[in-house]
Amino acid sequence: MLELPVVSKEEKRRPSKPSWLKIDLPTGSNYTNVKKIVKENRLHTICEDGRCPNMGECWGAGTATFMILGNVCTRSCSFCAVATGRPGTYDTDEPYRVAEAVRLMGVKHCVITSVNRDELPDKGSTVWAATIREVKKQNPETTIETLIPDFKAQWDLLYMLLDERPDVVSHNMETVERLYRVVRPQAKYQRSLEQILRTKEYGLRTKSGAMMGCGETPEEVSKLMDDLRTHGCDVLTLGQYLQPTKMHLPVAEYVHPEQFKKWENEGLEKGFLFVESGPMVRSSYHAEKHVR
Ligand code: SF4
Repeated sequence: MLELPVVSKEEKRRPSKPSWLKIDLPTGSNYTNVKKIVKENRLHTICEDGRCPNMGECWGAGTATFMILGNVCTRSCSFCAVATGRPGTYDTDEPYRVAEAVRLMGVKHCVITSVNRDELPDKGSTVWAATIREVKKQNPETTIETLIPDFKAQWDLLYMLLDERPDVVSHNMETVERLYRVVRPQAKYQRSLEQILRTKEYGLRTKSGAMMGCGETPEEVSKLMDDLRTHGCDVLTLGQYLQPTKMHLPVAEYVHPEQFKKWENEGLEKGFLFVESGPMVRSSYHAEKHVR
């Protein structure tokens, strides 16, 4: 007799993946070219390390999001696929290789992010500033979006980065306030909001994003939007949380695309300049649309 796999009670309760979460497999010459550029320049991307489902689409369109300061993060957010641990020393040559990769890819808009480097006295802000500077130098026509960590409220470090004037400064809230202890245990909701406000007050375009399906209620999402607007956030992205491995936070709900559409309309009514909201949306997804 055929033996069926044992399914735990908890697994039975978990929602099954709906049909609208279709993932394109990465193929094509653009994809191969991006892969080659990333490999030859010894760079990391959040696309790969974060197991992003949009790699087929983004890399197929010739774009990727670089992740600087290594690929080991000092924080242990329960949703994130990036490795956690003690990162080694960082590579002072990386800014030049990122700039070179942007030049080779020939993109009009580039997105750069990083791991958290809480163990460093400058939290990585010196490398951040050097990277922005070098990308600008080698690619004067390319706009730059930086998806940055918090600097543990060391605002002088934030300003060191902002002084390089990237075109968009993104800092993701990731979830609603109530779920911070579960989803981002080493982060603080109010601290992230303050960082966005300070960035706005510095005269830069601000952006933030959150994952839906972690157990938040629609009212909490509305409150998150209100908080972001009162802290000067211009652009919002909302996407479906996907559990990267069984060791990560389980998905509480697969949110229907109609609900994402409702949030998009709600966000626009609340005054965001752009809202990108849909199951497959990630903070760097279609980022070039939100620059101007
Ligand atoms: S959405 Fe962002 S992280 Fe995902 S593949 Fe596209 S560029 Fe990479």
